[in-house]
Amino acid sequence: ALPSAQGHVRFDDVAFGYAGGRTILPAFDLDIPAGQTVALVGTTGAGKSTLAKLLSRFYDPTGGRITLDDVDLRDLDGRDLRRAIVMVTQEAYLFSGTVADNIALGRPDASLEEIKAAARAVGAEAFIESLPDGYDTDVNKRGGRVSAGQRQLVSFARAFLADPAVLILDEATASLDIPSERMIQDALQTLLADRTAIIIAHRLSTVAIADRVLVMEHGKVIEDDAPDAL
Ligand code: ATP
Ligand code: MG
Repeated sequence: ALPSAQGHVRFDDVAFGYAGGRTILPAFDLDIPAGQTVALVGTTGAGKSTLAKLLSRFYDPTGGRITLDDVDLRDLDGRDLRRAIVMVTQEAYLFSGTVADNIALGRPDASLEEIKAAARAVGAEAFIESLPDGYDTDVNKRGGRVSAGQRQLVSFARAFLADPAVLILDEATASLDIPSERMIQDALQTLLADRTAIIIAHRLSTVAIADRVLVMEHGKVIEDDAPDAL
């Protein structure tokens, strides 16, 4: 029902605390117009990942509501929600299986041509074709041959193929060599085009390409500005 999602995200007076714990978000408001790229930065424990998990519906708010295109997430069909909002985290870059399986994770119906087109779009094609069995390479067996930057590129290809209206990215903290860093930035630009994106950003270069930067502290936004204003 929602492949046509626009990607307008709103947190409306959202309150949240983990079961039995203290309040993490006391009263959170945020309006993200469709298509905007928001970089989320702030001290450890500020609530950035918690926000991402609420938007992916790992948890529901204890107060207030989160809407996608003015529909409460709780009123969306689970399958529609998972198509519309995709989260890429650094822990879950690759699963056991082939490179092609990994790219097609959210789109098991995808053809090899579509998988290759997604890899091409994010600049992952060259390294995949250099693997011993190309797209059929088992990432577990040859896991050692796939670098951190290459794993990120595969996860970007996966997200590109899934084509969600809203992308949430918890950026890897691991440092990359300069060519990989450059490749990741180029891939990001492609991936972010024409969708809403919330990036928990660890790289200055990522903050720079965002339309808007939110600085969080203790579950609240303490700064909300364009990157060049910070
Ligand atoms: P970081 O930059 O370190 O990733 P963050 O801004 O993403 O930090 P969160 O992971 O959202 O912060 O954590 C916010 C608060 O919620 C922290 O005090 C943390 O200890 C707590 N917290 C996070 N996950 C859980 C959980 N599953 N159960 C209980 N408390 C949690
Ligand atoms: Mg976090």
